Amino acid sequence: MIGSLQVTVPAGCMNDCGFCVYRQHATKFRTLWRRDHDLWQREVERRLRYAADRVASVMVTSHGEPTLNMTYIRDIMELINKVTPRLAHVELQTSGVGLTDEKLDLLYDYGIRVISLSLPALEKDAIIKIMRIPDRYQYDPIALCESIRTNGFTLRLSIAMTNWFDDRSLEYILNELSAKWKPDQVSFKKIYGANHMASGKYADLAKEFKSDKRHKKLELLALGLWKYDAFGMGVVWNDDCMVSEEQEDPRYLILQPDAKLYTRWDTKASVIF
Ligand code: SF4
Repeated sequence: MIGSLQVTVPAGCMNDCGFCVYRQHATKFRTLWRRDHDLWQREVERRLRYAADRVASVMVTSHGEPTLNMTYIRDIMELINKVTPRLAHVELQTSGVGLTDEKLDLLYDYGIRVISLSLPALEKDAIIKIMRIPDRYQYDPIALCESIRTNGFTLRLSIAMTNWFDDRSLEYILNELSAKWKPDQVSFKKIYGANHMASGKYADLAKEFKSDKRHKKLELLALGLWKYDAFGMGVVWNDDCMVSEEQEDPRYLILQPDAKLYTRWDTKASVIF
């Protein structure tokens, strides 16, 4: 079983993170959805049928901020719910910026049940500074986490391990998470490229976490990573979220805006059909 089907929503981004992989690897795809909607629908249905028996879950993501294109999310969710209702585990990867209660209501109606919120630090001011979030959004990530939970979603924090973490201990990080952010799940992600912003302590923190007997191994996920229980939070350490290393089997299927399936983010050579 392949980890997940990653559905890429064509959208821009209001943020400007210095570690943005999409700005480093600006592979362009023609957006069939805009040019010929009926053809896009037929082509996507074929890819969804192919993916249905091969993946455990769906991740709605983007080369930018997916919630800037709610119409595409609506259209793709309609197809998933119609063609592959078995794929009920659908997750949205978002920066959270501009994610209002109205949008959360729509996402819930579309059938999304997990919100994966990307964070490069655990303090509001540091997050706004690192992601260069425009002032007009008045971004408040802790209040957003509360809204996500109260609207019935499972909350996953997808933490990009920037050098903000270099001055923080593992104990401090886990205490902040369980006391203030209160996620159901946490993924610590090693930054891909952008070495000037990457934490130099990622490997040490991951090793310290995994060797602590209080953190129980829960299960081996379909994407090949162990999930741990730390103080009631499900925790995963992801050394290679871009799958840049050689792999025998694909970790993801990626449905790009051209309505074709790929197995890698960084090269069009990985196209399946
Ligand atoms: S929020 Fe995501 S897409 Fe936008 S700049 Fe940051 S990393 Fe890139």
